[in-house]
Amino acid sequence: MILPIVQYGHPALRSPGKPVGEITDRIRKLAGDMIDTMSHADGVGLAAQQVGLALQLCVIDVTDAEDRAGTMIVDGQEVDLVDYMPLILLDPEIEPFGETIPETEGCLSFPDMQGRIPRPFKARVTARTLEGETLNFEATGLLARAIQHEHDHLHGRLFIDHMLEKDREDIAAQLEKLVQQNAL
Ligand code: ZN
Repeated sequence: MILPIVQYGHPALRSPGKPVGEITDRIRKLAGDMIDTMSHADGVGLAAQQVGLALQLCVIDVTDAEDRAGTMIVDGQEVDLVDYMPLILLDPEIEPFGETIPETEGCLSFPDMQGRIPRPFKARVTARTLEGETLNFEATGLLARAIQHEHDHLHGRLFIDHMLEKDREDIAAQLEKLVQQNAL
């Protein structure tokens, strides 16, 4: 089921998420709906806040980016991304590392807006899966960037918080308009 995606100005986007806790049917249904919603919107990631819920649950799929997707390393071995995507991450903890590089990002809650965000090129990730297991991996490139972007959402932070000043100035008028449209 495709869920409505909330836009900048909606208070859910600034709400730090609660840990998921017990994995119930409701959580499984939500994760499935979030994957449908992300894929329908052609996104590479979606956080629960973007469907109006302050919960530490996000989904990611970078496989459409093909050679720009980055890499995923599990137990020291690079794995085939297709085997792991879409990723469903519950209560993820991340440790970004490596060189900080500004790259252009967008966000489904900020339609038609982009800007450069400096982020470390790699991240170590620990998360619970929908099956209740612990998943540990290392990510690079777009996958590492997407995980950092989603992890921010889960804690009420947004990409505009880290955007290069010049790029944020370029979208300032659009942001102002969105806030007016979406503030409750
Ligand atoms: Zn986003």
